[in-house]
Amino acid sequence: MTKEIIDVDSIQANQEKKSVSLKLKWALGTAIGVTIIFGIFAILLFQCFSNILFKQEQSYSRDALQATEKKLTGYDQPLDKNNIQQSFNISYSPKNNDSLNTPYNDSFIQSAAHKNLIVSIYNNSGNQLYSTSKEVLTFKKVRSTEENKVKSDKHTVLLIRKPIYSKKTNEKIGYIQISDKLIQYDQTRKKLVYLFIIIGITVCFAISLMSYWLASIFLQPVDLLNETIDEINNSDDEAKALSEVRVPVISKDDELAQLSNLFNNMLDRMQRYIEQQQQFVGDVSHELRTPVAIIQGHLDLLKRWGKDDPKVLEESIQASLQEIDRMKNLVQEMLDLSRADQVEVQYGSETSDAREVGLQVYNDFQMIHPDFQIILDNDLKNKTLVKIYRNHLEQILIILLDNAVKYSTDRKEIHLTMSKNTRYVEFVVQDFGEGISQENIKKIFDRFYRVDKARSRNKGGNGLGLSIAHRLVEGYHGKISVESVENQGSVFRVQLPLVNPE
Ligand code: ADP
Repeated sequence: MTKEIIDVDSIQANQEKKSVSLKLKWALGTAIGVTIIFGIFAILLFQCFSNILFKQEQSYSRDALQATEKKLTGYDQPLDKNNIQQSFNISYSPKNNDSLNTPYNDSFIQSAAHKNLIVSIYNNSGNQLYSTSKEVLTFKKVRSTEENKVKSDKHTVLLIRKPIYSKKTNEKIGYIQISDKLIQYDQTRKKLVYLFIIIGITVCFAISLMSYWLASIFLQPVDLLNETIDEINNSDDEAKALSEVRVPVISKDDELAQLSNLFNNMLDRMQRYIEQQQQFVGDVSHELRTPVAIIQGHLDLLKRWGKDDPKVLEESIQASLQEIDRMKNLVQEMLDLSRADQVEVQYGSETSDAREVGLQVYNDFQMIHPDFQIILDNDLKNKTLVKIYRNHLEQILIILLDNAVKYSTDRKEIHLTMSKNTRYVEFVVQDFGEGISQENIKKIFDRFYRVDKARSRNKGGNGLGLSIAHRLVEGYHGKISVESVENQGSVFRVQLPLVNPE
């Protein structure tokens, strides 16, 4: 008992844990998904912006390069300081030979360059002739134009180096180096990174919250399902709770609504099953009580004064044996009834010849009841295979014919008809006996139901025959029906599926 309680508790605890973690998982999954998508999107956008910015800077530098080059290509000798002086109108300090003003003074370079851009000119030996800035720049001779993006300590720098060729001689006369500090570019990129991180975190957080909230709403039916199961498990009277508690279906036409409906249907079925079990136990004990009471009565009688009276002794033994016989029949019928539920699983592939079984049962009944006129109307001319285990078909026919005999009155006439249509073989058993009222006809296939208990008991009936027949026929996917008029007779009809439908 304790173990059971512990198990139920641990199941409940697990369920709670599961429902929470499902929401978290949902929120987390969505957040990860959104972060990945946003991350890819942000990287692409960042690359795109960076490219545009870089292209802009590149075009400034190229403009400056072109403007400087244009000024120098007219010389036919390798460049020296005089040429630079002439071209850019600059003067040199006499002491240290440095330029006093820069090519920025020159209006066309000014138009092409900006303050982070350094234009330097080198002679053929790689010595610097001029530079717009005093910053020491590394220089290396190149064969053709070279553009490099290099990382300095603080900034990204765009370096363009190009040899200058004389227009007149086509000889190399020096080099130009453009060094552009991409400060704006770096700053904008940094800002973009911060912006994307902030937007990313905000979006991710908002989406997580929203998906958690949505998951809570969507999973509400699951919570209700859990609550219902808890309520049933925790109830003192589970059978009662099963009959009262159902999952409220809040959403319409979605999978969870279907699940709730399925669960409710399952509870309905369980409830019906439990009720049937309770009813069955009640019925069985009730049915057994009468023979047991009769046997007990006779034994009491014998104990008190019947032992010495051979007549009483004989009568009591006879009556007790009769009751024991009845109990034996009852137990056998109950066994048949419970087995009839499993025919589909156990005998699903069995077949039998309807014609042969029908004829055999007909002959047996004719022999056992010579006082009855049993008329056979047989349309089955050849072997006709039906999907049913032979003994079960025999049992069904015996139950129906037995009832026809039992409940016949003055007119002792029974008709047995065997025929077939495209899909079924049909057996019809007709009698002209007491018949069944419309009120009772609905209940005769119920377990232990007898229209007249005492009369049926006298005739050896337990009220189980028709329930057995009904379950067997249904188990083999057939149909059983009845038409009856009180005091005129009844017609029972059984259809069983053909093995080879036409
Ligand atoms: P029983 O063992 O009592 O015959 P059944 O399940 O075979 O149990 O039948 C249930 C009840 O249906 C019977 O008690 C009887 O009242 C009624 N019944 C069955 N067959 C017939 C029939 N052919 N004519 C009239 N009543 C019938």
